[in-house]
Amino acid sequence: MSSFAADSLKFRNPQLAQNIAQKIKALAPKKGKVKICHVCGTHEWTITHFGLRSLLPENVEVIAGPGCPVCIVPAAEIDEAVQLARKGVVVTCFGDVLRVPGSEGSLLDAKAAGADVRIVYAVSDALQIAKQEPDKEFVFSAVGFETTAPSTAVEALGNPPKNFSFLTSHRLIPPAMELLLGVGDLEIDGFIAPGHVSAIIGLKPYELFPRIYRMPTVVAGFEPIDVLMAVYMIVKQVSEGTALLENEYPRVVKPEGNPKALEMMNKAFTVTAGNWRGIGRIPDSALQLRESLSDYDARQKFGMRVKQGKDILLGCECHLVIIGKIKPKECPMFMKACTPAKPVGACMVSSEGTCRVWAKNVAVQG
Ligand code: SF4
Repeated sequence: MSSFAADSLKFRNPQLAQNIAQKIKALAPKKGKVKICHVCGTHEWTITHFGLRSLLPENVEVIAGPGCPVCIVPAAEIDEAVQLARKGVVVTCFGDVLRVPGSEGSLLDAKAAGADVRIVYAVSDALQIAKQEPDKEFVFSAVGFETTAPSTAVEALGNPPKNFSFLTSHRLIPPAMELLLGVGDLEIDGFIAPGHVSAIIGLKPYELFPRIYRMPTVVAGFEPIDVLMAVYMIVKQVSEGTALLENEYPRVVKPEGNPKALEMMNKAFTVTAGNWRGIGRIPDSALQLRESLSDYDARQKFGMRVKQGKDILLGCECHLVIIGKIKPKECPMFMKACTPAKPVGACMVSSEGTCRVWAKNVAVQG
């Protein structure tokens, strides 16, 4: 285990962290490796910012899967937003969507060329602006996992103004986790499931991982101690040869999730196959507005759908970073041609992107 300079880390309880790290070390296999995958940009931030990997034995590895909802939006769906903006539709989006590369530029490029693209902090803000400017058509680029989909659902069901529609790019996490298990050479031994997604969906959608795949799965919170505990719980399961679904984050995540949010999502969306940047098409992984809300579906309203986009630019390794096959620093462009100030790939754009997280904590990663 690497040395742990507890004073230099900002743990609220460094002694507890040290104790958990010692327990992980004691349970780690004498031979072979335990590879744990998380699927959450916030978990990656906690892990890198607090240097948690340096506390783990060398044969316990934590890799980052597709946990950044902005990074995995396929270029085709950015292209759709760019096309609408170029046609004179006002495109509203969250700030980190602005710079995500499409096949031929981002929404920021479209804005620089004169298109009306506006950053909002909530979908309700976008609706408010649309009501104030009834002569213009507004589209909201709805990006996010199960955490943000309920807000889109609530607004879509709330009788939006006629000059407003949604360009949905919502994706679901459990199908992506299942897909990772089919990537043979990843050889994952356990999953850390994201606390905020789980607060919405509950525990049931993860039950297949231990039951069918014999994959230890632990729902975890976002404090450093939460993540270390999740690693400990998985390493313990591996050492005992068990495969269970456990909840490290019961202070927020209830087994049933958030029934109200799930009800709203179910009323607004149907589940369909969706493309993920760097991964491809995943069955049952995307949310599409129901037919009853088709007036508010930008793709239907404007008769527009881009089928194929250019997801990965020449030299960019985002497709490997997104599935945890390589670390950001293994991409030749990391902190050279691709930096937070001048991102090339999608993983460097959002604060939840693995490359962006590593770039911001480059001293920690060494
Ligand atoms: Fe993509 Fe940039 Fe990361 Fe390379 S460093 S994988 S180009 S985001």
